[in-house]
Amino acid sequence: MTDTSHLIQLAERYSARNYHPLPVVISEAEGVWVWDVEGKKYMDMLSSYSALNQGHGHPRIVGALVEQAKKLTLTSRAFHNDVFGPFCELLCKTSGQEQALLMNTGAEAVETAVKACRKWGHKRKGIPDGKAEIIVCENNFHGRTTTVISFSSEAQYRDGFGPLSPGFKIIPYDDLDALRGAITPNTAGFLVEPIQGEAGIIVPSEGYLTGAREICRENRVLLMLDEIQTGLGRTGRLYCYQYEKAEPDILIVGKALGGGCYPVSAILSSEEIMSVFTPGDHGSTFGGNPLACAVGIASLNVILEERLADKAAEHGTYFRERLLASKSRHVKEVRGRGLLLGVYVHESSGTARPFCEALMKEGILAKETHGQVIRFAPPLTIERKELDWALEKIEKVLAS
Ligand SMILES: *Cc1c(COP(=O)(O)O)cnc(C)c1O
Repeated sequence: MTDTSHLIQLAERYSARNYHPLPVVISEAEGVWVWDVEGKKYMDMLSSYSALNQGHGHPRIVGALVEQAKKLTLTSRAFHNDVFGPFCELLCKTSGQEQALLMNTGAEAVETAVKACRKWGHKRKGIPDGKAEIIVCENNFHGRTTTVISFSSEAQYRDGFGPLSPGFKIIPYDDLDALRGAITPNTAGFLVEPIQGEAGIIVPSEGYLTGAREICRENRVLLMLDEIQTGLGRTGRLYCYQYEKAEPDILIVGKALGGGCYPVSAILSSEEIMSVFTPGDHGSTFGGNPLACAVGIASLNVILEERLADKAAEHGTYFRERLLASKSRHVKEVRGRGLLLGVYVHESSGTARPFCEALMKEGILAKETHGQVIRFAPPLTIERKELDWALEKIEKVLAS
């Protein structure tokens, strides 16, 4: 029995089957490359759903993790630690927001935004207690906790997990009239992704976010942008909303904030909104711990100093042009922004999964999303010659 089949059998025997991974067992990685237990090399074109924008094992981020691990790992928020303030300051100064609230996973940050928004609605906007409504979009993805799945429109994410939390209204994505029509005096917030990643890389019409910003302002509704996947350079800007005039009231970040090393998430907002939280209202034992802060500072600095957003824009344009030029009969559409690209496979060509399996044989790890879409989201540190290597393989698979 090879290591690979043995290790896959162990995982299948001893782990809940809540994922359907491609049959590759990875044991090492560097930059855009990963190696499996048999020594075969692959390019990582998923980047752990954009948590690895800085690439695998970035020396500055790993260095920060290791150095901090030797000094101080956890204090809990019962005491201050010496990296917490500097990290919050960096997050605020680079996003134009005033205050941060640090958590660990993306779903926890979304939960935190929901709590901030509801409490703001009840205590500041004057919505009767327990009546605050939050508007979300069809085909959203905001995580897997019980409250967050309560407002998913994906039946599988909810099925059997009820009773679900009330207080959410689902409207179509990219539809400003629907947003206008859904707002009531009890609406506290609108939660939306600047590009819907998990839904199949859906880019809204130009002006959608700007329009949503205006509608929210006119109605005193908080605009909450989930940039967990689109943020930190992925789409060609530090934050995807910067393509428009759509500064959010609450900005939600995660994934690449931990540089692929450590879970780090946050919500960023104004002092006025954050002031709804008083000591004891909300918390997390590990949120804002010294390791997370040291990793977060390094992760953010790598994105800024290596100009990874600009690189994503440049490489993304080239990648898209080459994909379109391939004129494959399987490709219905290429969509996305920067290095968050989706290739929509014609229904007549089957689903995206066999294409991902063929890519794996060629040494490229990509993952289908929503049946028909192959997602290409390499680390933003990818070099042109690496991209050319990948495109040759992708063109071969799409030409088959
Ligand atoms: C991944 C993701 C989340 C959830 O983050 P976790 O760290 O997996 O909890 C939330 N929103 C978006 C847009 C995401 O892509």
